[in-house]
Parts: sequence; C-alpha cells; structure tokens
Amino acid sequence: MELDEIIQKDKKYYMNTFGNRIPVCFTHGKGIYLYDNDGNEYRDFFAGIAVCALGHSHPALVNAICDQAKKLIHCSNLYYIEQQARLAELIVENSCADRVFFANSGAEANEGAIKLARLYFRKKGMPDKYEIVTLYNSFHGRTLATLAATGQEKYQKPFAPLTPKFSHVPINDVQALEKAINENTCAVMLEPVQGEGGVHPATAEYMNAVRKICDEKGILLIFDEVQCGLGRTGKLFAYQHYGVEPDIFTLAKALAGGFPIGALCAKEHVASAFEPGEHGSTFGGNPLACSAGLAVLSTIINEKLSDNAAEVGNYFFEKMDSLKNKFPIISEVRGKGLMIGIEFAKPVAKQVNMKLFERRYLLGTSGENVLRILPPLIVTKEDMDGLINVLAEVLQDIN
Ligand SMILES: *Cc1c(COP(=O)(O)O)cnc(C)c1O
Repeated sequence: MELDEIIQKDKKYYMNTFGNRIPVCFTHGKGIYLYDNDGNEYRDFFAGIAVCALGHSHPALVNAICDQAKKLIHCSNLYYIEQQARLAELIVENSCADRVFFANSGAEANEGAIKLARLYFRKKGMPDKYEIVTLYNSFHGRTLATLAATGQEKYQKPFAPLTPKFSHVPINDVQALEKAINENTCAVMLEPVQGEGGVHPATAEYMNAVRKICDEKGILLIFDEVQCGLGRTGKLFAYQHYGVEPDIFTLAKALAGGFPIGALCAKEHVASAFEPGEHGSTFGGNPLACSAGLAVLSTIINEKLSDNAAEVGNYFFEKMDSLKNKFPIISEVRGKGLMIGIEFAKPVAKQVNMKLFERRYLLGTSGENVLRILPPLIVTKEDMDGLINVLAEVLQDIN
C-alpha cells in the first residue's frame, strides 16, 4: 500500500491519539536499519522508544518467537509455564529481586507495584498507609493509577479525578521528599533516570538519601526501570549505578524486544504480600512473551550489551563536548549510557528532529527543548559518529 493511502485510512479509522505522525511506514528492519515501503533506508536511534534493544530482526529473538509460536502461544496461568519460570529465574539471578510477576506493559507492571505496596502494609495491619510520593517530570504510564503517579499535569488534567493519594516532589531534592512523606505514605516511586520527562538522571547523593529515608520511615522504595533498565544506561539495571537497591522494581520496554511484556520484581518480604487471587493476568507471562523475553535478556547478558551501552555512550558524550562548544544552542547533553538527552537553549527540538528525519535518522524529543537518543544497544561508535556528523550539519541551519 502507498504511504498516502495508509495515512488516509489511519486518519479515518484510527483514534486520533497520535495526531500527525511522522510520515513514514516501515516494512522491515535489520540491526539499526529500518526500511520504508518506498525502499528508503533509515538509521534507528530511537529503537521504538527504547524497546528494540537488540536492533531489528535479531536472529535470537526472531527464532525464539517463530519456534515458540509453532509450539504453543498461550495456555493461561491456570497451568505451569516453563518459559515463565525460566525468565523469572533469569531476572532474579541477575538482580536484587527474589520474585517476579509478568504483565503486558510498563503501566501494568507499575499498577502491580502500586497494588503490592499498598497490600504490603495492609497485610501488616496498617491499611491507612497507601500514599505514594513520586517525582515531577516522571512518567509511569497511562492507566488511571499510573497517570496519577506520573508527575506531569498535561497527561493528568483531562482525566480527573485520578486515583487519589499520589504526591509529587522535584528530583534530587532531599528536603522536599522528607517533607512530602507522612504517616500514611507507603512508598516512594521513581525512575533512576527519568526518560519521557526529558532525560534527568537522579544523583548518587539523592538515591542514597532516598534509600536511607525509606529505611528510617519504614516505607518501600519502588524503581520504575521500564525505560532505564535492561542495559540501557550501561548497567543491567540503572539502580546498580548507585549502590542502592529498591524493594520493588518494574521492567517492560526492552524486555522482549518489542513483544509486549512487563515485569513486576520484588524482594521476598514484599512479594510475599501477594496471596493467590490477589493479582493476575490473562496474557501476562504467556509462553510466547516469555520465550521472547528469554531470548532478549539472555542476549543482553551474554553479549554484555550493557558494557557496549556504557562504552558507546561515553564515547558519544565525549564527542558531544566538542560539538557543544561549536554550537552554543546546545545547552546541555545529559543521561547515562545510551539514554541520552540533548537540551537546546531554544525550543527547536522538534525542528532538529524533523531535519534529522529528512536525512533518514530517527530520534525522538521531549517537550520543545530536548532531543532524545535511545539507540539499540548493539549500536557502534561508528554509528554514533555518523549521527554526530549529521547533527552538526543540521545544527548549521538552526538558530
Ligand atoms: C514507557 C514507560 C512506561 C509505560 O509503559 P507502557 O508499556 O507504555 O505502559 C512506564 N514507565 C516508564 C519509565 C516508561 O518509560
């Protein structure tokens, strides 16, 4: 089908939640490359929003999905599922978690985290401890509870009233957090590196202080690693940069490389609050999703893709230092590993992004000022050189 025809159908039949999308339709991909229905080749530096960690058409993932689809796609959680047990084991063996529950998305994993935090205190005889403190500029999902957790008014406003008892404080402000916690607080929830909100990493000082405050007050610490987890920041989990462990953390985006999955992970003393019947999912953790997850996570671990993310990320940050000197419109380059934000002194991010798209480079934005880079974790220094050259070309014309 021609692109124009696809766009017409979309405009007519699809709900208008995405507005004018970037005018391209991809048919296939390989590695960091994507191809549209006119045969044009693009370099993908956004990886389907931090999802396609292995790049496109990675044989380990393709084979896992094809093989499993031929055998058994779904059977429900009424029965034991080998792939589910093995993927849970792989996550536990490589993280601070003792137990895992699989959902189908990031928001759903976070919903599970919120439910588990509340239930944990209810089972301890403290049913009034249900308030959760999160951060401004956070993003935790689009369901009613995760919207309430998301500290960005623009997402929340149209859907009031939201799930009550969420409050928000600025990132890296210990005093504000201390003030926001009261006797009804059950948890603090945060992204170690904020993604959608503009790529803001928490500082090590802050993360250590947050853990200490949670311990002192006897409340739970939840990390949303839906975007920053799974090698993206140069460690398998972003919390490993800080020497701080959460009681609960969530995963999703990259976990099955594009097959929908989410994971709620927790330490035993917290996880044990869930008893049979208190949480569940029809699709969650089915054989196909978990086969895909096993293929992706074992590849990330065995091929040390988090090390590649650290190395290529550091290389990029160094190179960007000189580009920043040349182009004063770049006010800051921040992030960790391959989770990168370039902030401009003017609201030109969308314009820069479109000019990169015209040169067939795919990136993303946050707000008006931040260009976001989330390449597949298999990206090379040479790939990044190509991006930097094109970015320099594009910035020549921006003022
Ligand atoms: C994308 C994202 C979510 C929501 O994930 P969905 O799969 O879209 O529901 C939650 N938290 C963070 C940090 C995210 O980046």
